[in-house]
Amino acid sequence: GEPGAGLAVPQAGDPSLKLLSRIGVVDPESLDDYRAHGGYRALRRAFAIGPAAVLREVTDSGLVGRGGAAFPTGRKWQATAAQPDQPHYVVCNADESEPGTFKDRVLMEGDPYALIEAMTIAGYATGAHHGYLYLRGEYPRALRVLTGAIQQARARGLLGPDVLGQGYAFDIEIRRGAGAYICGEETALFNSLEGNRGEPRSKPPFPVEKGLFGKPTAANNVETLVNVLTVLELGAEAYAAIGTGKSTGPKLFCVSGSVERPGIYELPFGATLGELLSLAGVTGDLRAVLLGGAAGGFVRGDELDIPLTFEGTREAGTTLGSGVVLALDSSVPLPRILLRIAEFFRDESCGQCVPCRIGTVRQEEALGRLAERAGGPEAATDIALLREVGEAMRDASICGLGQTAWNAVESAIDRLGAYA
Ligand code: NAD
Ligand code: SF4
Repeated sequence: GEPGAGLAVPQAGDPSLKLLSRIGVVDPESLDDYRAHGGYRALRRAFAIGPAAVLREVTDSGLVGRGGAAFPTGRKWQATAAQPDQPHYVVCNADESEPGTFKDRVLMEGDPYALIEAMTIAGYATGAHHGYLYLRGEYPRALRVLTGAIQQARARGLLGPDVLGQGYAFDIEIRRGAGAYICGEETALFNSLEGNRGEPRSKPPFPVEKGLFGKPTAANNVETLVNVLTVLELGAEAYAAIGTGKSTGPKLFCVSGSVERPGIYELPFGATLGELLSLAGVTGDLRAVLLGGAAGGFVRGDELDIPLTFEGTREAGTTLGSGVVLALDSSVPLPRILLRIAEFFRDESCGQCVPCRIGTVRQEEALGRLAERAGGPEAATDIALLREVGEAMRDASICGLGQTAWNAVESAIDRLGAYA
């Protein structure tokens, strides 16, 4: 049928909304308003069922991480909780920096207590008493709103030595990033929190075993944490019934580019790319869509049947990543966009390992030459060079930045026929 038939643009207050239900409805600066709209029900349920049952619910819900990598949250929490080494930490990765990603910002600015409540549940389930919220430096409004909310929660006994009078101690500290994309990589984030240079560590060991200060750490994205409230409110089974078998629950999509209504859309996993784009209203003649941001990949404008799930995008040879859906109409100069992406990676590489430090420079140079003159024998040489450098970055880089720095360029060449 018509793409988007049966889907309506979700409005504030729409009962089908889970993650965005309070956005634009509650006063983000009022704890009372939060409670009047269902706030702290999930934490009460967590205390009622105990930490082992919370771990079970989160595992059974099928919730996977929304930062982009889709790792099972229950497995992460179980592994952290099981570590004998003490203390345990909870870290919220709110360093949202993937180009085109702005969902966590909307959650933090519009519903800050939801994140505080969810971090408290994460702490309770994983045996942590201290949470760090690592916030992107360029989010001053989120900083102000969250700082106020943490103070209020502390003053009202929802954070501190005896949360809700249940004998459980938990508190949260905010730390601000300083503009480095790499500090969103969880181990670089730990180094930054510890006062060191924001350089990634080799994994394994994974943070669940040796994370912040070398201690067991559950590090989760903002949207992942906020989903836990829905898991506890609905129960694992009802939560898992939303979306598809492998991508359960609701998902936030960050839609931008050549669309009439850019913004955050909440849909159950499984809607197609075409359905989402028809809600946002494509302007012009759709040439391509960038999925997953700069670390993701392009698909053609006619590949609208791709289901927006982790498994569906993988099967289609692309990625959902953090939920970026950036539409490009045919007026957009693709070589300039690719050069801009390459410049971004060159700029943001931490320089710790050779493939990425040198490869991102070579990639930008080759794309610069290609932007000057597409076609011809020199173009073929540059494309061959890009492939060689790209494979070296993918295979030999320490962290995800270098490993993904060639994804978008590769997909533009192979899928969109850029420079052909
Ligand atoms: P990853 O696959 O290495 O890890 C994902 C998570 O699972 C991590 O927390 C990791 O510690 C955990 N994990 C993986 N294997 C584990 C194991 N065996 N035991 C315990 N824990 C384990 O991916 P990553 O490098 O952390 O993240 C890459 C993703 O980040 C990409 O999908 C990219 O799209 C996304 N990203 C998002 C943003 C953003 O702003 N949201 C920015 C850049 C990149
Ligand atoms: Fe740093 Fe790039 Fe190596 Fe990651 S891949 S550690 S960003 S140099």
